[in-house]
Amino acid sequence: MTPEKIKKSLKHNFGFNEFRDVQEEIVDTVLKEKDCLVLMPTGGGKSLCYQLPATLLPGVTIVVSPLIALMKDQVEGLIENGVAANFLNSSLDTTETHEVEQTLLNGELKLLYVSPEKLVTQAFQNLLRKIDVSLFAIDEAHCISSWGHDFRKEYTKLGQIKSRFPNIPIIALTATADKITRKDIVTQLRLKNPKIFISSFDRPNLRLTVLPARKRLQAIIDFVKGSNKESGIVYCLSRKQTEKVAAALQQENVRASHYHAGMDSHTRSKTQEDFIHGRTQIIVATIAFGMGIDKSNVRFVIHHNLPKNIEGYYQEIGRAGRDGLPSETILFYTMADVILLKRFATESGQPNLQLAKLDRMQQYADALICRRRILLSYFGEHREEKCNNCDVCKNPPEIMDGTDIAQKALSAIYRLNENVGTHMLIDVLRGSSRQEILMNGYDKIKTYGAGKDISPPDWQHYLLQMLNMGLIDIAYDQNYNLKITPLGKEVLLGNKKIEFVTLESIEQRTKERVEASKPKSARQTADEELFEILRELRKGIARSHDIPPYLVFNDATLDEMTSQKPMNEHAMKKITGVGDKKYNSYGKQFIAAIADFAQARDKQGKQTQGTTQQITYVYYQKNMPVPQIARERDLKEQTIYAHLADLYEQGYDINISNFISKSDLKKIIGEIKINGIPNKLKTLYNTFQGNFDYHKLKLAIAHYRVNFEKGVVRYD
Ligand code: ADP
Ligand code: ZN
Repeated sequence: MTPEKIKKSLKHNFGFNEFRDVQEEIVDTVLKEKDCLVLMPTGGGKSLCYQLPATLLPGVTIVVSPLIALMKDQVEGLIENGVAANFLNSSLDTTETHEVEQTLLNGELKLLYVSPEKLVTQAFQNLLRKIDVSLFAIDEAHCISSWGHDFRKEYTKLGQIKSRFPNIPIIALTATADKITRKDIVTQLRLKNPKIFISSFDRPNLRLTVLPARKRLQAIIDFVKGSNKESGIVYCLSRKQTEKVAAALQQENVRASHYHAGMDSHTRSKTQEDFIHGRTQIIVATIAFGMGIDKSNVRFVIHHNLPKNIEGYYQEIGRAGRDGLPSETILFYTMADVILLKRFATESGQPNLQLAKLDRMQQYADALICRRRILLSYFGEHREEKCNNCDVCKNPPEIMDGTDIAQKALSAIYRLNENVGTHMLIDVLRGSSRQEILMNGYDKIKTYGAGKDISPPDWQHYLLQMLNMGLIDIAYDQNYNLKITPLGKEVLLGNKKIEFVTLESIEQRTKERVEASKPKSARQTADEELFEILRELRKGIARSHDIPPYLVFNDATLDEMTSQKPMNEHAMKKITGVGDKKYNSYGKQFIAAIADFAQARDKQGKQTQGTTQQITYVYYQKNMPVPQIARERDLKEQTIYAHLADLYEQGYDINISNFISKSDLKKIIGEIKINGIPNKLKTLYNTFQGNFDYHKLKLAIAHYRVNFEKGVVRYD
């Protein structure tokens, strides 16, 4: 498979001009029929990693996905892009199932989405043997691991795939997997020497804010009302809370609905549909909502309560800003939630694991250093810079040199062979003589008692900061022992200095943070008015096709159209998200809307940057004579001719022979061939003693440049 062919499918089928960082390498690996595991944050662009190969591989790609709503959405998206896809799950009746199976047998599908339950049935496996399967893609692969936060029993049977179809490659994908879960996915799916791709989990477009939960209902209402009718999700811990918050928003005339697992499935799917289609602005939900949501223009996610763990939290906030545009996330944090969640964790099947995970969540909420660093370090990405897009970076606390203190702790961890937890470490540092320490000989190590002057709670604070900075890690699967990270090693070896937040400034900071976080609207579009016009057009098209608006084009695509103002096919096809099928379906309507807008503004004498020639071209395409274009636009005829000459040089389809006869053209070109293009047009004008108008000379020069100098690819 040549890179050109791959690139071509990227534009043709998906409308993208470029791969995002690792996508290209992943696609390449899949096309070479190697197993791989892909870890990428929500919105990172995982689907493309199997959808693109699926369009190029000879047979069908089977995609295992846990949620019905997600399948439907993805399939609709693929069909919009002209890729043959369908799904099989329990939402179909027997006839429908039979129909899909028939198209599968006829080799008419490139992708088939199935639920894990369906995949492992004998009947379906028999069906698979009759067709040409090119690839298995396992989406949300972390569901296979009980270490993950979203274990699903049905997923454990997926290990069978490898034994039944040993020669068919598998690509497993997930947005959330810590190190243990990662290992577990590979083992359980029995991947053969998989290539593992870990992209950065950073979502720089998400603003991170944590607020104390005082008066949170009013804060939520204020925020939503200030958000310019943008879509958002509010997560609550209980069903009752979702109803209460949604009702409060409705009171304020916000189109809000609640969503939780206690509602019947019909109402639930209707609520979800309304949100996806933009009929409902805000969903107030328990975490039962969202895994199947692929909506790309969710502009904010608010947590009314503290989430149970960072994986879940990160996935939930990840539903905002999938289109890459700036989006807000706000977490309300109260001690009461912590207590409640602790009880849930204790009563769960894995109390230790769940409590430890809750701890990390709480540490995030309590953070004194850049929140993004904490999140990323949780996923094994240790970085040094702060993000400048979280509340802590925006409103930084007081700091001090912490290198010495950190080295004491790191050195003790090292000398204790990374074999103890926090509690023991502090005791050793403080020189406790309790029996376990003496028995193990911990009192013999060099750093024993080296941190006597620091109280145990203060040590807790420093260790928390070290953990959050990514100097140390907690090994959940090894008795919660502390481990030193590579960054920690640097500090231990004296190669790196670090800073701690002073403990005195913490109180002060919390107070300030409340004041500082006044919500702002997230969008910054190039031209709000045009964006609104395009959004309305999209809404109308979506309604008449009965698909969600973002499947027509997503917000990022509309944003690009708004700033680039493409008014012809060539320019429109350059926009990210405009593939060939989409162009054929909707391109002309959007071009017309943009052209109308630009023309209207032009008539009002308002400058729209970089569009004046484009507007001339729009009139030209309508066969309007030059003098009339000049009148319409209140410009000189010479200016319009200059536009046409420029457009022609840029490769636009301008028929020069309408303005200059062949023989005149020949004469002028002949002169240029001899003496070159003069610096001043007047020179050329004088050479011909004023026999040729300036506009003819301009067009002839353009013709000369195109045909004799550079050679330009023609398009219309
Ligand atoms: P994930 O499944 O990882 O959460 P998606 O596959 O849904 O993410 O992609 C997220 C968004 O990014 C979608 O709106 C998609 O259209 C867009 N996207 C993916 N790959 C590219 C790319 N190469 N160029 C531009 N946009 C992309
Ligand atoms: Zn930050």
